[in-house]
Amino acid sequence: MDQVTIVTGGSRGIGAATAVRLATAVRLGGDGHRVAIGYERSADAAAALVASIEAAGGTAVAVRADTSVEDDVVRLFATAADALGPVTGLVNNAGTTSRIGPFTDLTAADLRRVVDVNIVGAFLCAREAARVLPRGGAVVNVSSAAATLGSPGEYIHYAATKAALDTLTIGLSKELGPAGIRVNGVAPGIIRTEIHAVSGDPDRADRAGPAAPLGRPGEPSEVAEAIAWLLSPAASYVTGTTVRVAGGR
Ligand code: NAP
Repeated sequence: MDQVTIVTGGSRGIGAATAVRLATAVRLGGDGHRVAIGYERSADAAAALVASIEAAGGTAVAVRADTSVEDDVVRLFATAADALGPVTGLVNNAGTTSRIGPFTDLTAADLRRVVDVNIVGAFLCAREAARVLPRGGAVVNVSSAAATLGSPGEYIHYAATKAALDTLTIGLSKELGPAGIRVNGVAPGIIRTEIHAVSGDPDRADRAGPAAPLGRPGEPSEVAEAIAWLLSPAASYVTGTTVRVAGGR
């Protein structure tokens, strides 16, 4: 099967590493994907990523889509199919958080935005995938180790949205299993990306990463590797599970 995969939030961090990993898999001796890179604001980064994938012999397209907006999500899937062919996979990766801090400081606006992107957006993307994926298709939801740790003193609301994503993985895997579509997740620990700057703590990976049993933060490429495996035929009997990529956290 030709693999055409949408990576939401593919302009930076874990999503960008995943798009590169999937699109260049042919060079690694595996099945390459044609990749649609979704982004919200980073048009230049997304365009540069497409150029670097094409320079390496892969095929990619960048599509602006705020995943919390239903029309954008529908357009993302339609544009990907028009440009690349029938969509066979989704990496449900776009996510955000708000400022690190005690629960008492949480504002309603921050809570709503995090729920909007991490739950509403991810669920809308999964719904579109469920509508179009063929037998043999696969979804990988990008959760977080926070879902089981709770993130006290940092962002409990963010952790809770990721727990909701884990429930989506379980329920949707059972609903789509008979159609031959697999649904899994990855739960990264502390990974070196710009999300920590978004939460007002740009040095968090270097500060908190060494406390993990493996003694360091993770790299986006290490999460991408697990995602690529879950999408691949090598994981043909794996569904409804979330693989922790968290250095032991
Ligand atoms: P990142 O470097 O901040 O990148 C976030 C990506 O999501 C960007 O491509 C961004 O697009 C996109 N995005 C954000 N809001 C969006 C929206 N409303 N619509 C569409 N795209 C949107 O973050 P990251 O660390 O790679 O995180 C990727 C995923 O991993 C997230 O779901 C995050 O919760 C999860 N995660 C990360 C860590 C970690 O330590 N880094 C740990 C556990 C889980 P623009 O560039 O256009 O803004």
